Amino acid sequence: MAKRTPLISGNWKMHHDHLEAIRVMQKLNFRLPLDAYKTVDVSVHPPFTDLRALQTLIDVDEMSIILGAQHCHWEDKGAFTGEVSPAFLKKLNVSLVIAGHSERRELFHETDEMVNKKVLAILKHEMTPILCCGETLDEREANEADAKVQAQVTAGLNGVAPGDVARLVIAYEPIWAIGTGRTATAADAQAMCKIVRDTVKNVGGSDAAAGVRVQYGGSVKPANIKELMEMPDIDGALVGGASLDPDEFAAIVTY
Ligand code: PEP
Repeated sequence: MAKRTPLISGNWKMHHDHLEAIRVMQKLNFRLPLDAYKTVDVSVHPPFTDLRALQTLIDVDEMSIILGAQHCHWEDKGAFTGEVSPAFLKKLNVSLVIAGHSERRELFHETDEMVNKKVLAILKHEMTPILCCGETLDEREANEADAKVQAQVTAGLNGVAPGDVARLVIAYEPIWAIGTGRTATAADAQAMCKIVRDTVKNVGGSDAAAGVRVQYGGSVKPANIKELMEMPDIDGALVGGASLDPDEFAAIVTY
């Protein structure tokens, strides 16, 4: 089995309007040497309103940065006011879509069942889901982190063909480390990412487990990325705050 290509993804959350997004993307592209893309895939996940502008920019400037989205609905169309269809994202050349980020689970009450429907819809439209999982601080302190992550991954992959599981991305993001400046130690992050991979093995078999890319997310910075990336089961990072600044994000990508 060939080595998995790491994927470093910037989740801009609700930051950068489309004009700011163009500036940030141009700077990021300028900061990243072409060689960087030989060893790592890089994606940016801006707000929906930025996607069209960034799609054009990537196209015209022949950028190697992959366009991603933060969320979508699972239906192709219908009476779902305010929602965005995965088919529309595909039309904008979006390749990666985050599903089940903890902020969406917590603030918008997304359940495992909804996240699973999104995973299936994203795959149906030939995009790649970044399925998020992770425990709260209370769950970690109660020794429930493993069970929580196993349950979220198993539910998220329900009905996904093993061949599709192999090309999926799963982001382990301990909720207590997101936007808090607290990072899991590299050893703890590795242990949890291994649990993610073992869960994938149970659900989809050995090839799926060997192929799936597991990201760590939670206050990833230029100072801690290298140590995290040295871990055998960590294949990249989902980066929030530090991806908003092109210099900082470029430093993470070129760790
Ligand atoms: C995230 O948004 O998924 C995230 C991990 O944020 P931060 O890097 O700011 O902790």
